[in-house]
Amino acid sequence: MLIVKKFGGTSVGDKERIFNVANRLVEEYKKGNDVVVVLSAMGKMTDVLIEQAKDINPNPPKREMDMLFTTGEQTSVALMCMALATMGIPCVSLNAFQVQMHTTSNYGNARIKRIDSERIKNELEQRKIVVVTGFQGIDKFDNYTTLGRGGSDTTAVALAAALHADACEIYTDVDGVYTADPRKVEKATKLKAITYDEMLELATLGAGVLHNRSVEMAKKYGVQLVVRSSLNNEEGTIVKEEVKMEKMLVSGVAADEDVARIALIGLKDEPGVAFRLFNHLANHNINVDMILQSVGRDKTKDISFTTNVDSADEAIEIIERHFKEYESLNAEKEVSKVSIVGAGMQSNAGVAAKMFEALYDEGINIRMISTSEIRVTVLIDKKYTKAAMNAVHEAFSLGEI
Ligand code: ADP
Ligand code: ASP
Ligand code: MG
Repeated sequence: MLIVKKFGGTSVGDKERIFNVANRLVEEYKKGNDVVVVLSAMGKMTDVLIEQAKDINPNPPKREMDMLFTTGEQTSVALMCMALATMGIPCVSLNAFQVQMHTTSNYGNARIKRIDSERIKNELEQRKIVVVTGFQGIDKFDNYTTLGRGGSDTTAVALAAALHADACEIYTDVDGVYTADPRKVEKATKLKAITYDEMLELATLGAGVLHNRSVEMAKKYGVQLVVRSSLNNEEGTIVKEEVKMEKMLVSGVAADEDVARIALIGLKDEPGVAFRLFNHLANHNINVDMILQSVGRDKTKDISFTTNVDSADEAIEIIERHFKEYESLNAEKEVSKVSIVGAGMQSNAGVAAKMFEALYDEGINIRMISTSEIRVTVLIDKKYTKAAMNAVHEAFSLGEI
C-alpha cells in the first residue's frame, strides 16, 4: 500500500514531537508500506516568519514572502529525515522544486496545477520514506509560491491523487473533525464521518481543521481523507462522498472572525451598478462573500458585502478610485460570520428559523444572512462569536451525537 501522511505544525513542534512522528512513520514503513509524508513548518514558525518580515518591511513583496515561507517547511523535512536517519531508516527530504510541484504564480495563494511524480516514485522504489515540504510550490518561472495558510493539507491531497495513494491521513492536534471548534465550543463532539460537501462548507466558513482546497481536491479526485491525532490512536474522522449515518439536520457549526463588512449607500437603482462594482473588485482579485442589496427607494439602493478582513482596505481603495457611484461608504471590521452546515437541511423546513431563535435568545443581533442548500450563515458582532457558536450548537443538540 502507498500511504500519504500529513503532519501539521504542532505535531512537529519540537524534538520530542519530531521523534514521535518518526516512530509512527517507521511503524508504517515496517509493515511493508510505501510512505510519503508531508510536513508543515514547526509550531508557529510561519507566524514568526511573518513577524520577521514585517519588522524589516511592513509591506513585504509577495514573492519574497513566499521565498521566506518555504524555509519553514524545509526545516521540518530536513530535521525529520535526520531523526529517521538515527533510526537507520532510509529516507529523503524533498522540496517543491525537487517534486516539481507546479502552481499558478499567485504568490501567497497559488493553486496546484500539476506534479511530476517521477522523483517520488523512484525514491519509493528504493524503499525510502519520502518526506515532502507542505504548502509550497513553484511557478513556471521557477519562483517559489505558497498555497495559502494551512495549505499543507492540500499538498498532501495533491500528492495522494497524483500517486494514486491507497490512503491519505491528515494528522493534527485534534483527533478528528468535531461538530464545532473544540477550542470554542466545549461540548463539541467528534464526527465519525462527514461528506466532502459538508466538510468543504465548514472549511470555507472557518473550520481551520482542513484547508478548504484540500477538500475540494479530495472530492474532485476521489481521495478519501482521514483526520486523526498525531498524539493518540483514536479513530479519527473520515471525509468521503457518501456518509451513511442517521441523517442529522446539522453536522457542524463554524465561525470566521477574519471578516469585514463594507456598505455602500445611495447607489442608483438601475441596471449595471452591481456589475460595475463587483467587476472592479474581481479584476483586483478581491473575493467577495455575502452580498445584500436593499429594496430600491427614491431611485436609490444600498449594497453591502463582506470580504476577508485582510482585503478590506484594498477593496475600499479600489471602490474609491474606480467606482464612484455612491453617496457614502462605511466599513466595519469588528464582525464575524457564524454558520451551520448540514446536508440534512435541504429537505427540512425551519432550520434557519431555529438558528435565528437561538441567537435571539442570546440577544445577538443578525446583521446579514446568506444561505446555500446545505448552510446558513449570519454576520454578527465579533464579540458575540463564541456565545453564538455555543447557542447554535446547543439548539441543534450537537453535543449529544
Ligand atoms: P495543523 O497545524 O495540524 O494543520 P490546524 O491548527 O491547522 O492544525 O488545525 C487544527 C485545529 O483546527 C484544531 O486545533 C482546532 O482548534 C481547529 N478547528 C476548527 N474547527 C474545527 C472542527 N470543526 N473540528 C476540529 N478542529 C477544529
Ligand atoms: N505552515 C503553513 C501555515 O502555517 C502551512 C500549513 O501549516 O499548512 O499556514
Ligand atoms: Mg492546518
